[in-house]
Amino acid sequence: MSPKKTIRDLTDAELRGKRALVRVDFNVPIEGDRVTDDTRIRAAIPTIEALIARGACVVLMSHLGRPKGKPDLKYTLEPVALHLATLIKAKVDFVETTDSDEALRATHDLEPGTVLVLENTRFLGGEEKNEERLSRSLAELGDVYVNDAFGSAHRAHSSTEGVAHFLKPAVAGLLMELELKYLGETLQAPAKPFVAILGGSKISGKIDVIEALLPKVDRLLIGGAMACTFFKAMGLETGKSLVEADRVEMAKGLLARAGDKIVLPEDALVSASLDDGASAKAVARDAIPPDQAMFDIGPKAAQAFADEVARGRTILWNGPMGVFEKPPFDKGTRAVADALATATSHGATTIVGGGDSAAAVEQFGLAAKMSHVSTGGGASLEFLEGKELPGVVALDDRGHA
Ligand code: ADP
Ligand code: MG
Repeated sequence: MSPKKTIRDLTDAELRGKRALVRVDFNVPIEGDRVTDDTRIRAAIPTIEALIARGACVVLMSHLGRPKGKPDLKYTLEPVALHLATLIKAKVDFVETTDSDEALRATHDLEPGTVLVLENTRFLGGEEKNEERLSRSLAELGDVYVNDAFGSAHRAHSSTEGVAHFLKPAVAGLLMELELKYLGETLQAPAKPFVAILGGSKISGKIDVIEALLPKVDRLLIGGAMACTFFKAMGLETGKSLVEADRVEMAKGLLARAGDKIVLPEDALVSASLDDGASAKAVARDAIPPDQAMFDIGPKAAQAFADEVARGRTILWNGPMGVFEKPPFDKGTRAVADALATATSHGATTIVGGGDSAAAVEQFGLAAKMSHVSTGGGASLEFLEGKELPGVVALDDRGHA
């Protein structure tokens, strides 16, 4: 994919006194009327502030949750707008509509340097259908379109894709640019050795990632429940562990093809149930008791994975090594997170993708010690699979007038 224009390619004439219509990813968790994790909101601030600094006013649109194409106040963006107002100096207004004369008027009434948050784009029936009528109507809400919603770029919706055809220039925001740089450019020509670590609950959602990464990596470390399906493929007892029976043959095939690239855990932390962390014990991978399940990689595996990470110059991590939400099954995930943090400090490029892995790194207080933590769960997976993201493709190419 050719490089995309970003807000840095826009001229002053394109921004001064103009309305920048920015698609952000404000799909954040909310309890009552309080935002409980504002990572995604904070991630959009550099773009908002850069546009303001260049004399534009900023019109923000985002989806939140799954309101099914009609207004549902449970999913209003108003609490997000209120929260944003506490994070930036600029004045932030909210309008309870998106596709209406009222919204259009509100955008024209904006003073330079101020921000307007529109209501949830998924309150509109046409959004997820990428309806042309809606895309054209959204295009009226700005003088320039900026897509900074990397986490939504794998979906061709009106606010992420359709609108970019009717509002030009259409460029990437700074967060989008950063995501594309790390996930795209770095993975195209990674400094070697290139070590990937995959985990999480299921292989099925990540087969295409495994296939896409296998030819590129020097090592592919596999943890999480995903490892159990490989154990099954090796003929090992997996007890009550989460195994995807319909993926065992595929795992066999991968092992046969991968040579020594795939590294599986040599031991496992097992227990009779997730709630029985107290009796968790480490066993060799060929000694998982039939009445117990693997909920984390074992200490030997954690050390071996950390050693592999230490040898890498590019390290990509997607998917927790165990049920990190429930100690003591967080140990393997912590060990890998620590190893990545150390590798970063030694000059390696470390990239964390995937919603739960990003949450784990955040929870351990190590996010700032990674080169890049992707804000896009599904989008980063699709990107790693080598798929083109429609919300990115629709933006203007660099060097194109
Ligand atoms: P990501 O969002 O980072 O891509 P996934 O969604 O694929 O990660 O997987 C995350 C989930 O996998 C976590 O909720 C974690 O509890 C679960 N998980 C990891 N290892 C195991 C295991 N051994 N058994 C059951 N669940 C696991
Ligand atoms: Mg997940």
